[in-house]
Amino acid sequence: MNAFIADAMLGKLARWMRVMGCDVEYFPEISDRALSDRAKCSKRIILTRDTRLVQQKINRDNAFLVIGDHYPDQLRQVVEAFAIDPFKGFLSRCLRCNMPLVSIAKNGLAGKIPYYVFETQDRFETCSQCRKIYWKATHVEQMVERLQNILGINRMPERPA
Ligand SMILES: [Zn+2]
Repeated sequence: MNAFIADAMLGKLARWMRVMGCDVEYFPEISDRALSDRAKCSKRIILTRDTRLVQQKINRDNAFLVIGDHYPDQLRQVVEAFAIDPFKGFLSRCLRCNMPLVSIAKNGLAGKIPYYVFETQDRFETCSQCRKIYWKATHVEQMVERLQNILGINRMPERPA
């Protein structure tokens, strides 16, 4: 599976790609040079809106020019170009840190999450980096719907989200 690094202009795209489970690094403030170097040594594809960056020699084999000023257009383009299944890894990654989420046992979470959530949810996951705890909430359904609308599909995520 491809790994990506998004340039500073593509924060929303990066976030929505993470929602789909894609490995996308994103730093809001990173120089072109640092972006190129990081992409090269971590074998990541640069996603950029910058034609100049794509044409630089160092990036020639691993930069992808994103067309469109708005993330829905950008998302459609990237999903098509890299044949990404939007729901295969749906919400399997921390939206903040890009780290894969790991399952976490419910007992032990009492007091760490809202009481109502503890009472009504059974599946929890956590990020090994920021320790944020994830569970299925109403915003998950909204994200599914948003992706379906943007990509023009009716399918649902494969794994219970
Ligand atoms: Zn995290």
